[in-house]
Amino acid sequence: MRQMDTKSLINYIALKILGGSDYILDALEEYLVNGEGPATVAYKYNISKHQLRGYAQRIIEKSGNEIRAKKVIPILKQISQDVKPIVKRTEVGLYTCELCGTTLAKEDTEEHVRRNHKDVLSATVKHMMEKLEEIKKSQQKTVILTSASE
Ligand SMILES: [Zn+2]
Repeated sequence: MRQMDTKSLINYIALKILGGSDYILDALEEYLVNGEGPATVAYKYNISKHQLRGYAQRIIEKSGNEIRAKKVIPILKQISQDVKPIVKRTEVGLYTCELCGTTLAKEDTEEHVRRNHKDVLSATVKHMMEKLEEIKKSQQKTVILTSASE
C-alpha cells in the first residue's frame, strides 16, 4: 500500500489556496466525501469536470488511496481554515497578486506564488503542519482519556 505523503499533500493544498483556488477542499469534500455528481460540483465552483477529477486524482495519489483521501479532506479543511489566497480574481477575469500587484492569467497563479512568494508558501505549509500536529496530539489525548475511563 502506498504511504501518505503528508508534506506533499499540504504543499499542494497550500499552493492551490494561495494561488486563488480556495474552493478546492469544499469541492473535493462535496465530490469525494459526500458523493455528489461531478457535473453539479464543477458547475458550482465554476471549474470543469476534468479539473475536478484532476484535483481528486492528485489528492487520492498523495493520500495513498481513496478511503484515506476521504478521511484526510476534512482534516485538511480544518488546518487550512485561516489560509487565505494571495492571488485574487479581478472583475475582468484576470488574477492579481495582492503581495506584488502583478496581473496574472489563471494558469500562471500557482507558478507565480511558487517562484515569487516562496517564503509565504513555506510559512503556510509550516503553519498547516503545526496545526496538524496539534490535532494529532489532541486525538492521542482523547484515546488516552477513553481507555483510562473504561
Ligand atoms: Zn506576487
